[in-house]
Amino acid sequence: MINKKKELGRLLVATRDLEVDDLILTEAPLVLGPKQETEPICLGCYRRVSGKYRCSRCTWPLCGPKCEVSPDHQPECDVTKAAGVTISIDDTDGGPHHLYEVITALRCLVFAGREPKRWRTCAERFNTRYLQQGAGWPQHRHNQELVVNVLRDRFRLHQYPGVDGSEAAIHTVLGLLQINQVPTKTSYSEVQALYPMASLASHSCMPNTKPVWKDGKLTLRASDPIKRGEAITFIYTDILWGTRARRDHLRQTRLLTCSCQRCADPTELNTYFSALLCRRCGNNVLPTSPLDDYDPWTCESCSSQISVEEVLRTNLALGAAVEVALAKPSIPSLEALQQEWTPRVHTNHYHLHAVKHSLLQLYGRSKEKASDQEKDAAHWIEIAKKEKSCKEFLTVCSRLDPSTAQTIPFVGLTFYEYHKTILQSAQKHFAQNKLTTQQLKKRMLLSKALLKKAMEIFKHEEEDTPEGQLYVTCEQEVIRIGKWMLAVGLV
Ligand SMILES: [Zn+2]
Ligand SMILES: [Zn+2]
Ligand SMILES: [Zn+2]
Ligand SMILES: [Zn+2]
Repeated sequence: MINKKKELGRLLVATRDLEVDDLILTEAPLVLGPKQETEPICLGCYRRVSGKYRCSRCTWPLCGPKCEVSPDHQPECDVTKAAGVTISIDDTDGGPHHLYEVITALRCLVFAGREPKRWRTCAERFNTRYLQQGAGWPQHRHNQELVVNVLRDRFRLHQYPGVDGSEAAIHTVLGLLQINQVPTKTSYSEVQALYPMASLASHSCMPNTKPVWKDGKLTLRASDPIKRGEAITFIYTDILWGTRARRDHLRQTRLLTCSCQRCADPTELNTYFSALLCRRCGNNVLPTSPLDDYDPWTCESCSSQISVEEVLRTNLALGAAVEVALAKPSIPSLEALQQEWTPRVHTNHYHLHAVKHSLLQLYGRSKEKASDQEKDAAHWIEIAKKEKSCKEFLTVCSRLDPSTAQTIPFVGLTFYEYHKTILQSAQKHFAQNKLTTQQLKKRMLLSKALLKKAMEIFKHEEEDTPEGQLYVTCEQEVIRIGKWMLAVGLV
């Protein structure tokens, strides 16, 4: 399954034709640990910690005594105790804490010392793009200061028996992690992991696999049909960002330049996800050559141009406004933002797409549980807007991620919200004698079908995650609708 291509290094390819949902691999991580930048989390189970409980052996914050003996935690526990370091992490509300930057690198180095053969076999296959970067680049300086110096000066890693704690070894491991780590879901937070095989999957903004984590193992299934000989791909950036944002992010984090079909398409698969609007004629302004970072953008109809600088400025300003509004979302503030920006950017623009997802949850919520009499005209206006937002949101997502494998929380939740609009308006219109029994039945079945769609999307999610919980809610709602239909004589 591993092939070597000159320009890409090693990559995974399918050795037979694969259908949707076909199993590609199941494997445990070689090494798993916190992301390099993370808030204080338990080093045994990765849930957020307050800092009140500390490991009795090593003083790293944990969630409780159980996690002191977690196998994951042993490497740093041993090294910290041996070095006699006392960990003081006081500010546990203040965002990422720099001391966590050392953990996963330390775990890799301890693993490499304990199982040198297994480590070497895998590490040799991993991508080493970072080696070409040299000591001058900012990430190298950052790593030197916050990982290499800390591991050597504070944790005395180079004196720990059986571990290569040299500067070169630490930098090598950090580089391998940066390029080859797979963002990995645990029950409580996202961490990073190196996998013997999955870490070799190449990137695409239109990935063909769906990762699921269970009991510490990654299972990779095909999310699209994959032909024999085709690359098995993963997405290492946010599928719901516009092309320039994704490509910049990939270049910074993975040191790779993506030229996939979506990146090369000015319309981004007909979504107009990054399009601005022309100041002269109001039509779409799109990148003239999307894979060229400096080419100006051109209006589709009048050919007037916008410089790349102006495009970036617009995206930055809109992104900042959206970030502020989403920190404390309310219908008036989000609608005001939409109104302010829709004359300047396409209504599907990725920043407005995020606003839409927030709005579609807020619409109709205040009177959701109210009786029919209490649901006033304003409520029904919100329900109509909710339905429209759900449809638009789902249309765009279905083009960017047809299998929904990468957008499970967003798309699943939207199907759930969508069912509410159909259900509420059907019941209202029936009560007002505006629907025949047959029409009502049709709407109720549609509402149920939307819930089943959400359940299908959430079916592999663990029960203790928000998505797993929503699966249960949908299940109950299907039963409730069934009972209601029975009660009014629809079945
Ligand atoms: Zn824990
Ligand atoms: Zn410990
Ligand atoms: Zn791409
Ligand atoms: Zn124009």
